[in-house]
Amino acid sequence: MSFAEDRFNEECAVFGVFGHADAGALTVLGLHALQHRGQEAAGIVTYDGTQFIAERHPGLVGDVFGKNNAHAEKLKGTQAVGHTRYSTTGGSVVRNIQPMFADLAGGGIAIAHNGNLTNARALRAELVRDGAIFQSTSDTETIIHLMARSIYNPVVDRLVDALKQIVGAYSLVALTARKLIGARDPFGVRPLVLGELDGAPVLASETCAFDIIGADFVRDVEPGEIIVATRDGIESFFPFKPRPQRFCVFEYVYFARPDSTVEGRNVYEARKRIGEELAREAPVAADMVIPVPDSGVPAALGYAAKSGIPFELGIIRNHYVGRTFIEPSERIRHLGVRLKHNPNGSMLKGKRVVLVDDSIVRGTTSKKIVEMVRDAGAAEVHFRIASPPTTNSCFYGVDTPNEEELLAHAMTVEDMRLHIKADSLAFVSIDGLYRATGEAKRNSSSPQFCDACFSGDYPIELSDIIGGRKDGQLSLLAEVA
Ligand code: SF4
Repeated sequence: MSFAEDRFNEECAVFGVFGHADAGALTVLGLHALQHRGQEAAGIVTYDGTQFIAERHPGLVGDVFGKNNAHAEKLKGTQAVGHTRYSTTGGSVVRNIQPMFADLAGGGIAIAHNGNLTNARALRAELVRDGAIFQSTSDTETIIHLMARSIYNPVVDRLVDALKQIVGAYSLVALTARKLIGARDPFGVRPLVLGELDGAPVLASETCAFDIIGADFVRDVEPGEIIVATRDGIESFFPFKPRPQRFCVFEYVYFARPDSTVEGRNVYEARKRIGEELAREAPVAADMVIPVPDSGVPAALGYAAKSGIPFELGIIRNHYVGRTFIEPSERIRHLGVRLKHNPNGSMLKGKRVVLVDDSIVRGTTSKKIVEMVRDAGAAEVHFRIASPPTTNSCFYGVDTPNEEELLAHAMTVEDMRLHIKADSLAFVSIDGLYRATGEAKRNSSSPQFCDACFSGDYPIELSDIIGGRKDGQLSLLAEVA
């Protein structure tokens, strides 16, 4: 199992721009900044004034739209939407790569979506019974079929009509010949931000996509808001029943890039504060604090600052291990974790180490990293985790293992400590996580975030139940059964 497979992984990023001469190139750059949210495939659709142009291919943004191929040059026009995606399942199925495009009664539309519809299977079955022919397994196509059948006419009304029938977490961007549309689900689980470049509106999953193109951040798209950009300016609608906001707290733990600001909070600062909370809640006598790079770095800095224990780079990460790196043969497979991480041996010898990571999922990587640090000569290894135990799967657009595979689902913290062979193990509490984001405490009658993977409190109904499991998340790249 690779390091990436022992993580919760965000499945998608979206980007859109309207009314800019460099729309295609800006979208390539925006998607490049959002690459951490999906590495399996990248796609962009533009409109050049007469036709839609779609380039959708498996691979990293740089591989798909880099200078060694001609895909980017074809993306003519002043308006564009783009998407990157992540999936661990199967090979890439090109027909599932977003943005999806369809010719509807009122004209063409391209849609790209981040999130997951929790009633997608039921809706899909109903649509198929009514004669719909699906080309992909993507939730986005369900939205397109619902729009195609809508009795309403302007495209925005068709989209609202479709979104009112779906249940789930989504942030989406859509492009027609005359409009760029952005929409966020009423709970606001997944992020979507609005920016501006040379007077042109820009939509993106995170603000780091604005920084790379020099766009100004305007504001977060509100939960339940539909934004419509045309040549006449921007309009905003709130067509859904208002719901209590439940932004994904894991965005602050791991998903979002540390230099992004989402929902009014800088991600790097939030991660450092989580580390401070962890030091306050789970202190330990030690000689150094070392992060599991890169995602554990901000929390380790916070832990070190609060505890007064020196921060050291005791593990060095090799940044050049691609997802396609060939696994070593069975004979030397135990060295696998060292493809990506190597202990800084001279620093660790005889030292009491606080190891800080963002989360424990299956525990496979954590176990190997503890063993690696101990083998390098550390006298004690105290593991500190900058999130509460992940006891539940996510069904809102994040690639997660089944519940039974989550270490914290089956084990107590002490059993987990024994399993990964650490001298001590502690997780930040849910309240500590809330404090780190600036929310004083989890309000149990109405929590301020989605924290379901830590609490089991799912804010959005999970209507698709398969084989007795609450598993309704369609695999993004798998062939449909
Ligand atoms: Fe985020 Fe909620 Fe999914 Fe956990 S369950 S990853 S908090 S959306």
